[in-house]
Amino acid sequence: MSPLVAITGTLLAVTAVPYLAFLGLYAWVGPSGSPAEKSEAKPTVSVVLPTYNESQIVETKLEDLLALDYPMEKVELIVVDSSTDDTREIIREYFADLEAPDLTLIEEDERRGLAPALNEAYEAAEREMVVKTDCDSKLPQNVLREAAANLSDPKVDAVTGRNVEVLGGSGVESGYRGVQSHIQQLESHLDSTLIFHGPFSAFENDALLPIDPNSLADDTELALKIRRQGGRVIFDPAVQYKEASHSAFVKRRKQKDRRAMGLIRLLVQHRDALGEYGKYGKLVLPFNWWFMIVSPWLLTLTLVVGTVAAIASLGTAGAALPVAVGLFTFLGQRDALGPAQALYSLFDTQVSLLRASVELLRGKG
Ligand code: GDP
Repeated sequence: MSPLVAITGTLLAVTAVPYLAFLGLYAWVGPSGSPAEKSEAKPTVSVVLPTYNESQIVETKLEDLLALDYPMEKVELIVVDSSTDDTREIIREYFADLEAPDLTLIEEDERRGLAPALNEAYEAAEREMVVKTDCDSKLPQNVLREAAANLSDPKVDAVTGRNVEVLGGSGVESGYRGVQSHIQQLESHLDSTLIFHGPFSAFENDALLPIDPNSLADDTELALKIRRQGGRVIFDPAVQYKEASHSAFVKRRKQKDRRAMGLIRLLVQHRDALGEYGKYGKLVLPFNWWFMIVSPWLLTLTLVVGTVAAIASLGTAGAALPVAVGLFTFLGQRDALGPAQALYSLFDTQVSLLRASVELLRGKG
C-alpha cells in the first residue's frame, strides 16, 4: 500500500471515530422525548419578538401568537423594533382594540443589531417564562404549554424545540435539522444541549443574563451562559416550530455561514468551559468542538490527500474521486440524493463551518 493511501485511510478513520462514538453512545443511551420531569404548568409569559422591516409578515405573526392555546391574560408581548418600514405602526394598530396580551413596544432609533435589541427586551420582560421567537417562524398552538411543562422541572432553566418543517426552504436544511434533532436529544439526555434555536426558545426569567452585544449566536449564547450558571438547558422534540429558510443557494449559504461563524466564535470564547459543568463540558462541548472546528478541516485534508493518493495510484482514473464529490454536491444541492440526502446535509454543514473558520482566521467576523 502506498504511504499516501495509508495516510488517507488513517485520516478517514480519525475523522470517523467521534461520529462512530456518537452513534454508539446514542444506541446506548437511547434518548427519546424530553429528559425533563414534565408536568402541566401555566406560568405567566413574556414573548420577546425582535423585528426589523417585517411589515410584510408581522401581522401573520401576531395572528399566530394570538391563536396559541394559552390564557392570553397571562401573556405580555415585547416587541423590540428597529424597522425603517411601517412594522411598528402595523403592530400598534393591531393592538389598539385588544385587551390581551399586554404589549410593550421598544422603539429603537436606529438598527443596533439583534443582540443589543434582545438584551433590552429581556431586561423589560417581567413574566415568569420568557419566550424568544422570530417573525418568520410559525408556532403550533400547544407550544407555550409544552415549554412550560419542561420549565416546571426545577433543574431545567431553558428549553428549545424542533424544527418540524422548513418553510419555503430547501431539503438540504430539512435533512440537517433531522440529524441535528438526534444530536440535540442525546446531548439533552446526557446533560444539556448546546444549540438554541431563534424561532422558539423559552427561558426562566430568573435565569436570564445579558448577551455579548456583538454575538452572532444570541440564542445559543444565552443558553450556554445559563448552563454555566447551573441550570439545565434542554431540547424537547415535542416543542415544535416551523422555520423559514432561504431556498436560493447564495442566500441560504450566507445565512448558514453566518450562523456557523457565530457558533465557532462562541465555542472559542467559552473554551474555559471545556471539561467543566459535568457531562456538558466533558461530552457535549468536546463533541461540538470536534464537529464545528476540527472535523471540517480533517475532512478537507482527507479529501485532498485522498485525491492525490487516488491519482498517484490509479492515474487519470483516480480523478473519479473529486468527480464523485462534485456529483454528490450537485445532486445534494438539488435534494436528489434520496436516502443519502441527510448525509449530504451533514457535508453541507461542514462546508459552512469550514468557510466560517477560514473567515475567522482571516480576521473577518
Ligand atoms: P436569522 O434567523 O438568524 O437569519 O435572523 P433573521 O434575520 O431572520 O432575524 C431574526 C429576527 O430578528 C426577525 O424577526 C428579524 O426581524 C429580527 N431582527 C433581525 N435583525 C434585527 C435587528 O438588528 N434589530 C431588531 N430589533 N430585530 C432584528
